Amino acid sequence: MTRLVLILGDQLTPTVAALRAARPGDVIVMAEVMAEGTYVPHHPQKIALILSAMRHFAEDLRAAGWQVAYSRLDEAENSQSILGELIRRAAEMGAAEVVATAPGDWRLRQALGECPLPVTLLPDDRFLCSEAEFAAWAEGRKQLRMEWFYREMRRKTGLMMEGEQPAGGQWNYDHDNRKPAAADLFRPRPPRFAPDAVTEEVLALVEARFPAHFGALRPFGWAVTREGALAALDHFAAHALPAFGDEQDAMLAGDPVLSHSLISPYLNLGLLSPMEVCRRVEAEWRAGRVPINAAEGYIRQIIGWREFVRGIWALEGPGYMARNALGHGRALPAVYWGGPTRMACMGHAVGQTRDMAYAHHIQRLMVTGNFALLAGVDPAQVHEWYLSVYVDAFEWVEAPNTIGMSQFADGGVVGSKPYVSSGAYIDRMSDYCGGCHYKVKEKAGEKACPFNLLYWHFLLRHRERFAGNPRMAQMYRTWDRMEEGHKARVLAGAEAFLARMEAGEVL
Ligand code: FAD
Ligand code: SF4
Repeated sequence: MTRLVLILGDQLTPTVAALRAARPGDVIVMAEVMAEGTYVPHHPQKIALILSAMRHFAEDLRAAGWQVAYSRLDEAENSQSILGELIRRAAEMGAAEVVATAPGDWRLRQALGECPLPVTLLPDDRFLCSEAEFAAWAEGRKQLRMEWFYREMRRKTGLMMEGEQPAGGQWNYDHDNRKPAAADLFRPRPPRFAPDAVTEEVLALVEARFPAHFGALRPFGWAVTREGALAALDHFAAHALPAFGDEQDAMLAGDPVLSHSLISPYLNLGLLSPMEVCRRVEAEWRAGRVPINAAEGYIRQIIGWREFVRGIWALEGPGYMARNALGHGRALPAVYWGGPTRMACMGHAVGQTRDMAYAHHIQRLMVTGNFALLAGVDPAQVHEWYLSVYVDAFEWVEAPNTIGMSQFADGGVVGSKPYVSSGAYIDRMSDYCGGCHYKVKEKAGEKACPFNLLYWHFLLRHRERFAGNPRMAQMYRTWDRMEEGHKARVLAGAEAFLARMEAGEVL
């Protein structure tokens, strides 16, 4: 009996579980459907990357001898949902069974649960830590902390280990990282990949079908094949990795990428595997070409944070996306969708997001995320924004980063304290403030940096929850020591700013 083997747009790995389980005579189903392009308004570059990578991957599968039933978005008979396409293909092929790899999105897992055909859902084993393994690790722990999980992953993989001990004697070299950066014309730029004929066709399709989605479609320079993704990894390892640690948290108006790798979309689509990336980075360090703080810091992001957030997403289940522990309910302001702003940092972070579908971690966490949290924006709207605008955004990785790490809406599952800061942090780590309408050194008054005002407003709104947190108690003591008149001016300034935000004024 013919079976359908479903391959989703982020399962483009020849060894993905469903393909490993495929038998001669099975039909591989790949479907471009409108529902997947529009359940949130994805950035046009994200849609184009996924569609082009899917089309290239389908060709590889055909070349390897598989029968591929590929549905293009603009085909008249396309039913426009994954489930609809499975049902249509089953009728067409006389198939009575589906084999799939578990999607990294609860919405799709639920949809497959409603399929009228029997579906065999195989675990997605492209991660170092399976969902079951993570659940076993989490069992009985009062708090789940990435650092402890990361050490387990180091032991498990042997990456940067010397016997039982971490290479260099320390697990974590972060104290050597987190430096500001200076503009440098000679800093290597990430490679750009010229669109081939397949990508050009996809770009025209995306232009026609998703004209209203936020974000620039062109110039489009993402790799769309495994070969391209490997070239991007090579380029990063050879040129940017040595400075990765030092520049990891820095932000520069004229340099949106600095020494970041830009490989998250390739990892998340399945064009690169986490272990091959980490082995490559480790090899650079063992060859003496990159410092230990760069290699360890980079590997920690992948076998630590990436695996940890995936474990949390699986553990917490479909209700996680609706969490709102701090009871925040303000609407996401227009600046996030490219509306005018006088806040230079927000202008730069959102501007590069619009142009590139990319911002690096600190821009996501300490600029756009920090602002939304301080301003009390509804975390569901923040989640929808991050899921829409970044080329690497898939629920399993985006939601725990947004709902958990960035918005503290999970009440402390991902992080032990909220990532909030006043303007001083942004000023220290970037060159944004010099060109801003607001004054980062002003703590109150008309021109005071909004982060300075909102920071205290946030802390006081949530005093009951956070005052007892040992890592935050100092900030409450600082507030309590301030002069009463100054405190009143700060809070009045914050209230006025929030009122302007709610009235839809330019911020
Ligand atoms: P680099 O800085 O070069 O880091 C290397 C790799 O480490 C990344 O490619 C990524 O695979 C991994 N990594 C680093 N930090 C994290 C993290 N916190 N969680 C998971 N993986 C991590 N990452 C996504 O892949 N998809 C998302 O949708 C996403 N949404 C985010 C939302 C918010 C609010 C925040 C604060 C972070 C989010 N991240 C997300 C994590 C991180 O910002 C991106 O992985 C990173 O910016 C991707 O760029 P890069 O490849 O240049 O990363
Ligand atoms: Fe951002 Fe404040 Fe600096 Fe302006 S002054 S760039 S709002 S941190």
